[in-house]
Amino acid sequence: MTAEDDFDLLVIGGGPAGATVATLTARRGRRVALIEREAFPRFHIGESLLPAGNPVLKRLGVWDDLLTGGFPRKYGADFLDATGTRAVHNIFARGILPVDEHTFQVERARFDALLLDKARAAGVVVIRDRVSELESLDDSGCRLVLASGRRLRGGKIADASGRDGVVARALRVPCDPLPYPPKIAVYGHFTGVRRQEGRRGGNITIVRLPGGWFWSIPLDEEKTSVGVVAPVSAYKAAKLDPEDWFARCRDSSPFLREWMSGAERLGDVHVTADYTFQRTVFAGRHHFLVGDAAAFIDPIFSSGVCLAMGAAAEVADYLAEGDRCREPVPEAVARAYTRRWKRRILTMRRLIEVFYDPAGSAVFLQPRNKFRLFDAVNSVVAGHTALPWQVAWRFRLFLLIVALNKRFRFLGTIDDLPPCEPCPEARIDRDHLGLSSCR
Ligand SMILES: Cc1cc2nc3c(=O)[nH]c(=O)nc-3n(C[C@H](O)[C@H](O)[C@H](O)COP(=O)(O)OP(=O)(O)OC[C@H]3O[C@@H](n4cnc5c(N)ncnc54)[C@H](O)[C@@H]3O)c2cc1C
Repeated sequence: MTAEDDFDLLVIGGGPAGATVATLTARRGRRVALIEREAFPRFHIGESLLPAGNPVLKRLGVWDDLLTGGFPRKYGADFLDATGTRAVHNIFARGILPVDEHTFQVERARFDALLLDKARAAGVVVIRDRVSELESLDDSGCRLVLASGRRLRGGKIADASGRDGVVARALRVPCDPLPYPPKIAVYGHFTGVRRQEGRRGGNITIVRLPGGWFWSIPLDEEKTSVGVVAPVSAYKAAKLDPEDWFARCRDSSPFLREWMSGAERLGDVHVTADYTFQRTVFAGRHHFLVGDAAAFIDPIFSSGVCLAMGAAAEVADYLAEGDRCREPVPEAVARAYTRRWKRRILTMRRLIEVFYDPAGSAVFLQPRNKFRLFDAVNSVVAGHTALPWQVAWRFRLFLLIVALNKRFRFLGTIDDLPPCEPCPEARIDRDHLGLSSCR
C-alpha cells in the first residue's frame, strides 16, 4: 500500500449520504476517498426531497444548480384517497417551523452526479470500484479491499453504501425488530402523466390504496416518476409479473386511471422488495453508518434523502474537529448518534403508521387545524424530525386522536368513508383534476 492510499476518511458509496459526508469533511482539510461501484449518472430511486433538508443542499453549494437546472419546485405534498375525492394538501410553508417555501423534485441520475462533482471539487478522491471486503476496523486503522485488488487505509470509515450496508453486514450488526409487513415497490418513468395546475404542478401526488399507495413525482416538463407500493403478500397472491401488477393497482383507482390515461412508460420497470430495516447500532470506535446503510423506512413521506444527508452532515461536522478522524469515537458519542437518529426516524415512523392504518388515514385525510394540529403535521411532512416542544405536543395530540379513532371510530376509517360531497372550491379544482380538501 502506498502513502497515496492512506486517507483520513474512507467513504463507501457515492449516493447523497456518501457525497455529503465526503464533501464536508474534505472541505475541512481532511484527506478523503470515496469509493462508488457504479458509473454516474445512474438510475436511482428517491426523487422527492423535503425542505428540512434544504440547509444541507445550500451548504454543499448545489442549491443554485437546482434552481437553474430545470428541477421542478416542490411546494408541498398532496395525499388522496383512491377515488380522488378526499384529499389533503400539505403545504410546507404552513408548518409551524420555518422552512423555505419549496424544495425540489430531482431525477437522481442528475442529482447524484451533481453531488459527486461537488465532492471532487472539494478534493475528494473518487474511486470507481466496488468495496469487496472490510479487511480491518480496529485501533491500528481501517482497511478496505476493492474488487480490483487495490487496498485502502483510513482513520475512519463512513459507510454510505445504502441498503447494501457493507460495514454493517461485515460486522453482522443485527437489525431492530420492526412491526411492518414486507413491502414491494414497482416503479418507472413515464411521459404523458397528468399534472396539477400552477404551483401544485411540482408537488408529489400520493394516492392511498387499500394496504398500499401510488406516487406521482414530476421530474421535468415531460417526465414523471410513478410507482406503487404494496404488501409483498398481496403481490405474491396476485401471481402477476411486475408490469401487470402495476397496471392492476393503477386501474383499481378511478383517480389513477384518469391521471395516467395518456401515459407511456420510458425505460424499464424497476422492483424493490422487502426494504424496511433499522440496524441496532449506527456507529462504532472507527466507523459511522450514514443514510440507508443505517436504516431505511417506508418512503411514503419522502424522508430518505433528507435523513441521509442530515446524518451525513452531522458526521462530517464531528470528524472535522481536531484529530477525530484518527482517534477512536468515544462510546458515548457513538451511542448518542445512534439514539438521536433513531429518535428522528421514529418521528417519521409514527406518521407512516398513521398513513397505513385505515382509521389513522381517515384522520390524516380529514384534517382540522384546531390548536394548529395540522400545521404541526405539516412541519413533520416537511421533514422536521427533531421536534421542538411547540410541535412535539401538537404532534403527540394528533397521534392521540388517531389512537382514539382506532378505538372508537368517531372519524371512521378510510375504507368506510363515503366519497365526500365536494365543496364548491373542490369542484372547481377537480374540473381540471386539481385537488382540494372539503374541510
Ligand atoms: C421505492 C422507493 C421510493 C423512494 N422514494 C423516496 C423519495 O421520494 N424521497 C426520498 O428522499 N427518498 C426516497 N427513497 C429513499 C432513498 O432512495 C434513499 O433514502 C436514499 O437514496 C439514501 O441515500 P444513501 O446515500 O444513503 O444511499 P444510496 O442512494 O442507495 O447510495 C448508496 C451508494 O452506494 C453504492 N454502493 C453500494 N455498495 C457498494 C460497494 N460495495 N462498493 C462501492 N459502492 C457501493 C451504490 O452504488 C450507491 O450509489 C425511496 C426508496 C425506495 C425504495
